[in-house]
Amino acid sequence: MKRRDFIQAAVGGAGAIAFAPLASCSPGDEDPINRNKEQKMYALTKLPYAFDALEPHIDARTMEIHHTKHHQSYVDKLNAALEKYPKLHTLPIAELLADLDQVPEDVRTAVRNNGGGVVNHDLFFATMSPDGGGRPVGKLAGAIDETFGGFEQLQKKFAAAAVGVFGSGWAWLSAEKNGKLLIETTPGHDTPLMFGRKPVLVVDVWEHAYYLKHQNRRPDSIADWWNVVDWDKAERNYTG
Ligand code: MN
Repeated sequence: MKRRDFIQAAVGGAGAIAFAPLASCSPGDEDPINRNKEQKMYALTKLPYAFDALEPHIDARTMEIHHTKHHQSYVDKLNAALEKYPKLHTLPIAELLADLDQVPEDVRTAVRNNGGGVVNHDLFFATMSPDGGGRPVGKLAGAIDETFGGFEQLQKKFAAAAVGVFGSGWAWLSAEKNGKLLIETTPGHDTPLMFGRKPVLVVDVWEHAYYLKHQNRRPDSIADWWNVVDWDKAERNYTG
């Protein structure tokens, strides 16, 4: 997607739902582009809950390692990759990922992998809550009914997609620019942002996301994850 198209999409065309940069998916609004303004670098987004808040569905040790080690390492590596490109370093990560052609070739793969790692984890952590679970709400609930024939059907298809990811990757509920929902999977840390789509809901199926509690049982980790999905946030991801 070319940058001008992305900017146009971000504004939203007639009949299209607004396509907000993923920055709006980050927990907390104090740093809308996920950057530490003093250091001019990207910063780790704070978790909006305690490490143990999602127990028993996701264990505290997994959350702590996932956020302070894995997520942090993507932030650090992204900053390192962009160190010699200060102009790019000021852009929202979502904008870089939406048009990787603008990123110099020598750091393109590093930006793709680590920038994706940053925004995907931002969205994943932000769209879970200790008060989560239950059913979709609002416009998203209506769109799920229309597209999949109901929440239970969505859950079934989504879980099958997530379980079917070979190796490390992500399963998504995402939206085309016209608001049409789809389930998709991406390898590594690729994101629907790279294809002009808006992430609504995501689950991390890298083993580091579930191995301590569920070991090889990825299907069980997906079943537990539904209990902490923040549907109010998913609705904002969809309509925002
Ligand atoms: Mn992860």
